[in-house]
Amino acid sequence: MTDSFRALVIEEHDGKQRANFKNLTIADLPDEDVLVEISYSTLNYKDGLAVSGKGIARRLPMVGGIDLAGTVLESKSAEFKPGDKVIVNGYGLSELHWGGYSQKQKLKSEWLIKLPDSFSMQDAMAIGTAGYTSMLCVLALEKAGITPDKGEILVTGAAGGVGSVAIAILSKLGYRVIASSGREETHEYLKKLGAAEVISREETMGKGRPFDKERWAGAVDCVGSKILAAVIAQLNYGGAVAACGLAGGNDLPTSVLPFILRGVSLLGVDSVMAPREKRIEAWSRLATDLDKSLFADMTRVEPMSNLPTLAGEILKGQIKGRVVIDVN
Ligand code: NDP
Repeated sequence: MTDSFRALVIEEHDGKQRANFKNLTIADLPDEDVLVEISYSTLNYKDGLAVSGKGIARRLPMVGGIDLAGTVLESKSAEFKPGDKVIVNGYGLSELHWGGYSQKQKLKSEWLIKLPDSFSMQDAMAIGTAGYTSMLCVLALEKAGITPDKGEILVTGAAGGVGSVAIAILSKLGYRVIASSGREETHEYLKKLGAAEVISREETMGKGRPFDKERWAGAVDCVGSKILAAVIAQLNYGGAVAACGLAGGNDLPTSVLPFILRGVSLLGVDSVMAPREKRIEAWSRLATDLDKSLFADMTRVEPMSNLPTLAGEILKGQIKGRVVIDVN
């Protein structure tokens, strides 16, 4: 157990955060109650920020990676035993706690959930935080009463990780899904995932007014800023948008008009600190409502050594679908 293993460690150099591959030993890991041998992690937008040194890590040194899937090696918790297959999404990994870009990690047992039977570890990471956030958005829309008979659902930032999985889930549930994407070359991919139509970012903007023509029963927004404002302005009477992202900016230049004249709802979605029951609900719904045959189109597996390049690509909006990271 004294053998060293590889990890991507974020440290400070000349006042800037920088990620480097390092060899660690078990003795270097945090003092948490479960030791996990990691098989896969993933690449999410937030990982792109962390690996590029954009200040996501709030304690240094920090091991990056907000998701992981692996096998329990040692456990001081009665809930988990060696050999159990587990996943972790969020909970401040890569910000406050060491994460999944490592071949081994020690984690708090309350962050772990057992890998659902219907998924392999690679499947679970093909979903990852992005996919589980998509399901949280779908659950939020359902709770707001947005059923498939209410009208069309818009998904913005459609070709990214959250958007791709949201389209696949919503179309399987019988919604008519319209994908909004800034990349023409992704249109065929988005239709294969289940989008009935694909529209450009310009078309998504409508007339760009704070109160526009009614168009959408509901929406999943990964972009924020002007795009989210346009979506709110175009929601049907009683419509709702699940807002989870800020790929286009963290501002929201909107007005109260759609809220007070059409009774629309802005539903905030957070995956990082979502309570455990909600995570278990989301993962069990993913097991039934996401068509696994789409994983191949949606996912690629990359070695951990490619993370620095991939991080730059996701920040530039160049990644299509989901990237699983093989840490071994
Ligand atoms: P990706 O980078 O995979 O996807 C983001 C997509 O947004 C891109 O593929 C692109 O889609 C679109 N986009 C990128 N830049 C811009 C821009 N400047 N203007 C308009 N559209 C743009 O990221 P993820 O899918 O992993 O995450 C999406 C968002 O959700 C991120 O902001 C992320 O931080 C957030 N997130 C939030 C979570 C939460 O708990 N609330 C959890 C997970 C993610 P296209 O090319 O199709 O236009």
